[in-house]
Amino acid sequence: MTDLAPTPVAPDLPRLAPAGKILAGGRWVEGSGTVLTSTNPADGSVVATLAAAGVADVETAVRRGTEAAADRAWRSMLPHVRARLLHRTAELIESQAERLALLQSQDNGKPLAETRALVASAAGTFRYVAAVLESQEDAMPPSRGEYLTFSVHEPIGVVGAITPWNSPIASDAQKVAPALAAGNAVVLKPAAWTPMLALELGAILLEAGFPAGLVSVLPGPGSTVGQAIVEHPGVGHLSFTGGTDTGRTLAATAARLLKTTSLELGGKSPTIVLPDADLDVAVNGVLFGIFSSQGQSCIAGSRLFVHDAVYDEFLARLAERTERLRVGHPLAEGTQLGPLITAGHRASVEDYIVNGLEAGGTLRAGGGRPDDPALAAGSYLRPTVLDGVPANARVLREEIFGPVLVALRFRDDDELVAAANDTVYGLACGIWTRDFPRAWRLARAIEAGTVWINTYKQLSIATPFGGMKDSGASREKGLRAVRAYQRQKSIYLGTGGPIAWAD
Ligand code: NAD
Repeated sequence: MTDLAPTPVAPDLPRLAPAGKILAGGRWVEGSGTVLTSTNPADGSVVATLAAAGVADVETAVRRGTEAAADRAWRSMLPHVRARLLHRTAELIESQAERLALLQSQDNGKPLAETRALVASAAGTFRYVAAVLESQEDAMPPSRGEYLTFSVHEPIGVVGAITPWNSPIASDAQKVAPALAAGNAVVLKPAAWTPMLALELGAILLEAGFPAGLVSVLPGPGSTVGQAIVEHPGVGHLSFTGGTDTGRTLAATAARLLKTTSLELGGKSPTIVLPDADLDVAVNGVLFGIFSSQGQSCIAGSRLFVHDAVYDEFLARLAERTERLRVGHPLAEGTQLGPLITAGHRASVEDYIVNGLEAGGTLRAGGGRPDDPALAAGSYLRPTVLDGVPANARVLREEIFGPVLVALRFRDDDELVAAANDTVYGLACGIWTRDFPRAWRLARAIEAGTVWINTYKQLSIATPFGGMKDSGASREKGLRAVRAYQRQKSIYLGTGGPIAWAD
């Protein structure tokens, strides 16, 4: 493994969001919560001290959002006109892409190449959603009497959007763009560890020309600000991405209040190498699938199933390549893995490695922190491969959200499907083979919202995304992205005479 020297110095970047303010109902205000600190996981330095929202700010945001969403000019704005605001947002994101990517790398430690891709994806989301909005049609179901019926879609009102820390601007855009396109106001609560990009997005939305009251960005803790958004009677729909336990609690509250939800939750995804796979292609794909983003990805391919016939050869190659991955400063050219989000999170990932070893597993690569003293102040961890771990070990059953891969051997497809599905999660799956019919059969048998064959972690805003089982119960993206943020209404228009009954 090559550890890169942390030569880059994080630049002092200008920010659009005014310092010390949050965005409540389109106005920059001080925020009634306890101040948040954005810490650079690469070296523990403070990137910024930020204002945080409190419960009182949720009240203001929802009140102004409700008024703005009900405003006649916004409600009756034609789709192609509203789409211009979305296009303008995409242009503004693109015009500041490098600054936003750098900020995000400082805020959450992802390598610059990845944060550049996330910023581009956010802009692409706004453009795609604009196109969907302009092409959306309502229906006129067949008439069964002397009337015409129209099935139309209307905004919900105020949408609560709650996002995690691992891909801030991309996951924020995935909720905010369709929620606004659908005609709603949106109250966005980013994760407390990574609030900066959401505030920047808020400033960009105002500059793009969205009516001010529609947009709120309320950084703060989930237990207070998040909970207040979930419980507020003025919030009609909750769009949540985060951990399964949090999602379950949120869904229980939403059910009691009869709110609709979309839930994108955790994962423990299998990635499968069949005996006929091109092993070079498969090694590259498996490495990318688990170790990009330092494994802090809901779709990380964290359980590796390799056919017995190629297991030893594949594991040897994989272990050797894992040791050569470059752990380094997120801004250094060529870094493949940056630091984990916090030292505390690294400790939790290390605990899983210990669990795997204590359960009888063997360390095939990594297992500890990098030796390079220049990386000592950051929360770095070497990519790790274990095998020989029993099926009931925590390291194999729980989502780790870090650079830890556990390899397992299989002999036939029935055994493989049973083992791959032996998890509460159902988010993603990878299959490496040249045998397409076999891959197809497996793809249909594995319980996962997304299956990749001979590729991994490729995501398109045009393709629906979501989980099964404890990974969630909804779909984002795709042609129904905007509809998920609307309510359907049926309108009957009488075409006959008086209703005979009353004669
Ligand atoms: P988390 O569940 O701890 O937090 C997610 C968000 O919910 C944060 O903004 C947090 O402040 C907020 N929150 C926490 N408690 C809350 C409460 N009681 N009420 C309302 N909001 C509350 O998750 P995390 O650690 O930020 O993110 C990692 C998790 O997210 C992983 O499990 C990962 O798999 C999942 N994730 C899923 C997807 C997906 O698309 N399926 C994508 C990215 C991340």
